[in-house]
Amino acid sequence: PSLRTPIIAANWKMHKTTAESKQFVTEVRDPIGNMENVTIVICPPFTAIESLSGCLSGTNLLLGAQNVHFAEEGPYTGEISPAMLTELGVRFVIVGHSERRAYFNETDATVNRKVQAALHHRLVPIVCVGEDLAEREAGQTFSIVESQIRLALGGLDASAAEQAVVAYEPIWAIGTGRSASAANANEVCRHIRQTIASLFGDTTANKIRIQYGGSVKPETIQDYLQQPDIDGALVGGASLDPQSFVGLIRAAI
Ligand code: PEP
Repeated sequence: PSLRTPIIAANWKMHKTTAESKQFVTEVRDPIGNMENVTIVICPPFTAIESLSGCLSGTNLLLGAQNVHFAEEGPYTGEISPAMLTELGVRFVIVGHSERRAYFNETDATVNRKVQAALHHRLVPIVCVGEDLAEREAGQTFSIVESQIRLALGGLDASAAEQAVVAYEPIWAIGTGRSASAANANEVCRHIRQTIASLFGDTTANKIRIQYGGSVKPETIQDYLQQPDIDGALVGGASLDPQSFVGLIRAAI
């Protein structure tokens, strides 16, 4: 296990209406709402954020968003600014998820602008990096994640960078039921930590939390969390069902 407090984040993607989101919280708040020594984040769709903000108060469940725009405000139809999120009690935001990179033109450059904007507003960015199957088979995993990290965190100083969370999510493992072995995921997370050390120094590298994501289940999460460089998990599919989510959190502490 790592020395850092584990952080488990649920990425609901485009699942759950507001009513369904509230029902979920009703079911999980008693079993996990008071657990300590773990950071628990729920990232619902934007439309459910305001209602959940009310239901989560008095628990240790924190709110995250799945995306943010980098501008303060402006003519960006359909977009949401950092201040619009913080006003509702949102503390985290997923930035650069591979689905956004693949389907919504997210690039390393926009990821960097979003990371900077989020930190400026005291929102913790969960910065997603990871290689696709062809890159992995070509032996490029380390170089791809290293370049994504350098670009995503470019222009930050160490005190800002250490606030961020990184999620290593191999694209071929997301929603596929295939996952990187715990030992292999740890190697990549260690490489990410070394990259951060070369950019910002060892103190920052030792503070920053790095999650693994990719078909994590209640039965497998412990294998990842036992690794020294893996500090949590970003979970899609297995975070949607209340019982499974409770199982993930119970296994994590
Ligand atoms: C994700 O989308 O961040 C993810 C890890 O999804 P899943 O757990 O479903 O693979």
